[in-house]
Order: sequence, then structure tokens, then C-alpha cells
Amino acid sequence: VTELRRQRLAATLIDHGVDAILVTRLVNVRYLTGFTGSNAALLVTPAGVVLATDGRYTTQAAEQAADVERLINRECAAALVAKAVEQAVGRLGFEAHDVSVEQHGQLVELAGGMALRPLTRVVETMRAVKDEAEIELLRTACTIGDTALRELLPTIAVGRSEREIARELEARMLDHGADAAAFETIVATGPNSAVPHHRPTDRRVAAGDFLKIDFGARLRGYHADCTRTVVVGANPTDWQREIYGVVREAQRAGRHALAPAVDVRAVDAAARDVVIGAGYGEQFSHGLGHGVGLEIHEAPLLATEGTGRLADRTPVTIEPGIYLPGRGGVRIEDTLVVRHGGPELLTTIPKDLLVL
Ligand code: ZN
Ligand code: ZN
Repeated sequence: VTELRRQRLAATLIDHGVDAILVTRLVNVRYLTGFTGSNAALLVTPAGVVLATDGRYTTQAAEQAADVERLINRECAAALVAKAVEQAVGRLGFEAHDVSVEQHGQLVELAGGMALRPLTRVVETMRAVKDEAEIELLRTACTIGDTALRELLPTIAVGRSEREIARELEARMLDHGADAAAFETIVATGPNSAVPHHRPTDRRVAAGDFLKIDFGARLRGYHADCTRTVVVGANPTDWQREIYGVVREAQRAGRHALAPAVDVRAVDAAARDVVIGAGYGEQFSHGLGHGVGLEIHEAPLLATEGTGRLADRTPVTIEPGIYLPGRGGVRIEDTLVVRHGGPELLTTIPKDLLVL
């Protein structure tokens, strides 16, 4: 699988006006080789591929990237630039969004007469469209999260703290096979639910609170992402029902807009127009969604400032929210895969307003 990816990347070099590419972002090295060490870089030329890492990873690299030429050198990028010079590469592309100004200066010195050309997110763009094996990992990660949340919900009650609930949900995900939480679990109660990325505190759930949980499992590098909002210990008030209903309708509209070839801004607009129409446009203060995969936030960005069109087999989140400072907020988020014939829903916990 990774060999196919490297071939696809090598085939695009001409389009990018380079003869070879130096990949320094670790997540991209992992995507292209399977190697998961913490220090690595990759040189991709039409003639072949060289993975550089340091002595701590000699064995691991041989196992994870057995089909790739390996170079053990702690200064991975520098060693590969020297290698490219050795191979008489004329123009070497590098990941401009990853290489620091300082590192660039060092590479230019080593490059001598070889031209260094900045490239932007070439591998990230490739990564947006997944193969079925990647989608299967995401599907399993989402199922682990769903199972953990289904178990957690009956245990949520007035008096439990945000931190307790977050810890318990993460423990349950690990019990069900997650490698880790995909990101720091968000549990936000009452007024805290109005903070989109609240960090769990010792605040205890009070009767009538909104409780917002944003969480996911990580499985073999792939990240699930799901948010549900419930009411605890009392019947929802009118304002709670109202904003929940608007967010739910917006989320539905966003999901239904997902299809290959659709402009990412049109998907954002489909959901955002529902929120704006209900008078809460100012209170929906973030983008509609994002790609998920080897990173929790990756291409494509579904937002007013997004660019590009969706493609088949692209996993994305749809997560509108309304946040009323000092009172509370609602976000509903699913992970889905864009497909011909309609999106595939990976997070399947019901979205009716649940009262615990
Ligand atoms: Zn999320
Ligand atoms: Zn998300």
C-alpha cells in the first residue's frame, strides 16, 4: 500500500516542477512508508526512495519500512539533501509548511548548485482521499468511540465532574481497543458548554445543564471525531430545545450536502444558512468541519475560508454549533465518508435530544 503511495507521489513530481521531493513532516513519512518513529525524513526520486532515521530506530525502520532503502543518520534532512546532491538531482522540492527558516538555511548550504523549491502540502492533498483499508480503520475507531459513549451515558448524573466523565470515557475507549484518545476529550457542563474547546475541570454537573462531549478513539494512527450534547437531570428549557433543534437541522443539512465534486464552501453554507436563518449566525463561531485521518484535523477544511472540492472516499466531520456565552452551547458532530450515492455515516450514536 505504501509503495503505491510513493509511486503516486513520484508521478506528480514533474507537475510540481521538481525532480525529487524531501518529505520532512513525520505524519507524511508515516503515510508514505509506514514508519512511526519520532525522527525521520524521506527522499522520493523517480529512481527510488530513501528513508533516513537515527540509530534508535534501526530495527523498527527495518520492520516497518522493509521495502525502502534506509539511511541511519541523526540529521535526517541534511543527510538526504546530501544524498540528493550525490544523485545529481537538479531541483529538490521540500515541504515549505514544515521546514523552519533556520533549517532551510542549512539545507541551502548543503545543496550547493541544486535548487531547493518550496512545495505546499503535496502529500497532505494526497492524504485527503483514503483507501478502503484506511476507511476501515476509521470505521473501527468510530465504533470504539460509539460503544464507549453508549456505556458512559447511563452513568452520567448530577454531581459527577467533567474530569471524572472525561477520564471514564477515555478508559472505556482503551478497554474497547483504542490505542489512545484521538485528542484531549472535551467534557463541558452548563455555562462551560458555551466554550467550543473547553478543557474539563472539576465542575460538577448540575440539574438542567447542557453536557457537551467531544471525543474520539485513535486506532493505528487514525482519528475518530464525534460530539454529542445532552441535558442532565431536568427537562430541557425552551432555549435549550430551540438551539438544539437548530444545530440538529444544520447538521442534517451539512451531512446531506456531502457529495463528490461539491465545493467545500457550499457544504459549510448548507449548514451555516440554517443557523443564520434562525438568527444564531454570530453564535456559530467556527468552521463546519474538517478531514480526519492520520491527523485529527487535516484536509479538506469545510469552512467559509475553505478551498477545493470534495472527492469520493474523503472522510470529514460535520460539526455545527451554537454557543450562548454564560448560558450554554450545543454542538453535534459526526464523522462521515464522502461517497458516490451518499455519505457513509461512521459515528452512529443517535442525535435526538437526550435527557439523562
Ligand atoms: Zn470533535
Ligand atoms: Zn472535529
